[in-house]
Amino acid sequence: MNNKLYGNLIFELSKKGRKGYSLPKNRFGEYEIPQTLRRAEDAQLPECDEMTVVRHYTNLSANNFGVDNGFYPLGSCTMKYNPKINEEMAALPQFTNLHPLQPTETTRGAMAVCTLLKRALCELTGLADFTLKPFAGAHGELTGLMVIRGYHESRGDEARTKVIVPDSAHGTNPASAAVCGLEILEVKSTKDGLVDIDDLERLVSLEGPSIAAMMMTNPNTLGLFERDIPKIAKMIHDCGGLMYYDGANLNPMLGACRPGDMGFDVMHINLHKTFSTPHGGGGPGSGPVGVRKGLESFLPFVSPYNSGNFAVVMRAYAYILTLGRENVKMVGPLATLNANYIKETLKDVYELPIDGLCKHEFVFDGLKDKSTGVTTMDVAKRLLDYGYHAPTIYFPLLFHESLMIEPTENESKDTIDGFIAVMRKIAEEAKTDPELVKSAPHNTPIGRVDDVLAAKHPITTYKQMINDNN
Ligand SMILES: *Cc1c(COP(=O)(O)O)cnc(C)c1O
Repeated sequence: MNNKLYGNLIFELSKKGRKGYSLPKNRFGEYEIPQTLRRAEDAQLPECDEMTVVRHYTNLSANNFGVDNGFYPLGSCTMKYNPKINEEMAALPQFTNLHPLQPTETTRGAMAVCTLLKRALCELTGLADFTLKPFAGAHGELTGLMVIRGYHESRGDEARTKVIVPDSAHGTNPASAAVCGLEILEVKSTKDGLVDIDDLERLVSLEGPSIAAMMMTNPNTLGLFERDIPKIAKMIHDCGGLMYYDGANLNPMLGACRPGDMGFDVMHINLHKTFSTPHGGGGPGSGPVGVRKGLESFLPFVSPYNSGNFAVVMRAYAYILTLGRENVKMVGPLATLNANYIKETLKDVYELPIDGLCKHEFVFDGLKDKSTGVTTMDVAKRLLDYGYHAPTIYFPLLFHESLMIEPTENESKDTIDGFIAVMRKIAEEAKTDPELVKSAPHNTPIGRVDDVLAAKHPITTYKQMINDNN
């Protein structure tokens, strides 16, 4: 295996006896650490001088790609600009030095931030109360479904054990329902990408008394506004179920409409997506859960000692205050404008399976010209060569060559035009030099990896890599 592929490891830079530190000696020329507390054998640590350590990690960090490096149109993930002032607020020592077990009367400031954020979320969503406790979107889904189960059980209605989930839903929806001990009933999408009302009617008439809830994402995973929500909400409510709103991506809704006004009973919000916390690679996150009036008592009890992921809460509050009541209403329209602009400008070269107005994101089904053999994977890899993060690919599963693009509201027209130009260039390359695209990326530290091998035999430790090399 080629070591260059991975860059140098700090262990490979180690030279026996090299040091990048010095410890103070006491007046007898001894280190202060008593003999009894020292290790019998040295720890297996790399030995390097300070410059080598600094350069090693600085160079590694430069291999990262983030929203601060370039355009990051990763659909369904809302990788938007995270204002730097949020970081300053979240890093204030008055907050970061709080201890979870210190007396509540000394944490009033942090509690006020939580209360004020909850109030802002209630206003933005039209719901009555929120808990800030869940640590991610999926965690929020589980919490919200437990609220729903608690509600049904409180009425002695124990037979409601099933949840309707559209086939276009994010994978966490059915997963959360399963973890909550509920059974999943899948409702189909129409060819226009919306919930199929006929299929829903069939499910409701078949399963009515066992339906606990229906989970919906709106705009859905295809970036389309579910026009029939009032009708759907009535069908579900009439059969005794509750409406759950997956608000992971609330961007397009801000300033446009509110889930609470559309008949939803319970929802979660991904603060780390819509309300600007740098995320990716698994964290950090926060998935507050909101409920309509009458369901407040089913929210989890939050002791003053536990307010979820406070730094994310702080950033969200700073973000909302920075925008203010009027500007926050521009988020949705601008996110929608940017997505539609890209879609309309590229649909002559990329296959648009569902035409018409989208919201904050949309899905292409690969290149329009299928004769080149260039796939969505190839296009995504080639984008890396041009300094763009790839869009979400092969999701949603409704199409074979899904390429899901979400520009967010923050990007300037120049940035978006630059991306469009590169997408057109790749479409052209696919015709004139398909091999160039199929073998991309060419300019990144690591070329095309074997996804299957990487997933089946991941190398996760230094030892494993040494063994693999020998
Ligand atoms: C991201 C996302 C989730 C899951 O959120 P996590 O914070 O990653 O757990 C759920 N639903 C939708 C629609 C999402 O985009």
